[in-house]
Amino acid sequence: MRSVSVFGATGSVGESTFDLLMREGGAAQYRTVALTGGRNVARLAEMARALRAEVAVTAFDDCLPALRAALAGSGVAVAAGEAAITEAADRPADWVMSAIVGAAGLVPGFRALRHGGKLALANKESLVTAGELLIAEAARNEATILPVDSEHSAIFQALVGEDLAAVERIILTASGGALRDWPQERLAGATVTEALAHPNWSMGARITIDSASMFNKALEVIETREFFGVSPDQIEVIIHPESIIHSMVGFRDGAVMAHLGAPDMRHPIGYALNWPKRQALPVARLDLAALGALTFRAPDLQRFPALRLAREVMATRGLSGAAFNAAKEVALDHFIAGGLGFMQMAEVVEAVLTQLAGEIALSKPAASLEDVLAADHLARIRAAEAVKGIKG
Ligand code: NDP
Repeated sequence: MRSVSVFGATGSVGESTFDLLMREGGAAQYRTVALTGGRNVARLAEMARALRAEVAVTAFDDCLPALRAALAGSGVAVAAGEAAITEAADRPADWVMSAIVGAAGLVPGFRALRHGGKLALANKESLVTAGELLIAEAARNEATILPVDSEHSAIFQALVGEDLAAVERIILTASGGALRDWPQERLAGATVTEALAHPNWSMGARITIDSASMFNKALEVIETREFFGVSPDQIEVIIHPESIIHSMVGFRDGAVMAHLGAPDMRHPIGYALNWPKRQALPVARLDLAALGALTFRAPDLQRFPALRLAREVMATRGLSGAAFNAAKEVALDHFIAGGLGFMQMAEVVEAVLTQLAGEIALSKPAASLEDVLAADHLARIRAAEAVKGIKG
């Protein structure tokens, strides 16, 4: 029986993963080692009972009593806190879903690699902040990292049987998010509700707002560079409002391989779950005649400075990805909480990158996760200062 763990089980990716595990037989087919969540303990407990998990872990200590009560008599062990999540990652499992949101997902995914096995990586922040370390850790332990981001899964699938040396370019598609058609002068006043109205994908709140600001695509450009090892000038971004082509690979003979499908995360998750095989998945089939046309346009770097900043990060590498992501997370928190404008998120990130470049050796490769976490920590402090400066 295959063993699985799901980190971030109660989130959007976690729910889709749970759905697939249940459809494929649930506890009769899988031994569930660990499920983790955050504040949604009622849902975590439901999932843990359904999959007869060995342990259910909430990230927050104050949620432990509720989780314990919800799982009383179930035989599922309970635990809470960051250290407990790391301990859950230390329990070997054949297949691990890394779907915690933000930099909090880095350490559990990294630790899970120690057992070999397969790490289905939705947490793009892991590759952005510590790509080189993660890839090296996977190689050292003969573990396989399978991309779950729909774009990276698409690229991964387009590369099956291909020689990476024959790749000329990778074309990442972007829906453009909720505000893609807004003029620059309107963007400054965009609200959280407006940024949350994604046209095609149903996702967690943070990634949905990151889609509107294009910070999500910026993270994905860096993720592409780290995961596939291509150079930054081989990575292109194109706005594709229909979100049907999930990404493309261009080869040196001029051929372009595109991956098409309905915008449903159960495809890339299911592909990672069944890899290297393909199994039937409950996703809508494309009706191309009904779709009629697929459209494309170049991204506007003026309105979406996140993409320009991603290029700077890729040029610097080292610890700059950790600083970029941490500053973005702080800016996003302040945008969600109110008080920081939509366009000011990029201002904060740029200010932090500039300041840290004069403070620490940003381009120095991280020797360990501790280096990454230290850069993340410092960037959060500087970002909070930058926010304060902007708010006045
Ligand atoms: P959600 O916000 O929907 O879910 C996040 C999960 O992480 C939840 O289980 C949440 O618990 C848990 N969590 C929140 N804070 C912490 C913390 N501090 N420590 C541990 N766990 C925590 O996120 P998504 O599912 O949208 O995204 C997850 C990851 O996958 C992100 O990295 C995202 O970029 C990536 N991704 C998401 C896609 C999508 O379609 N949603 C597509 C491609 C990539 P709780 O809800 O119980 O509080």
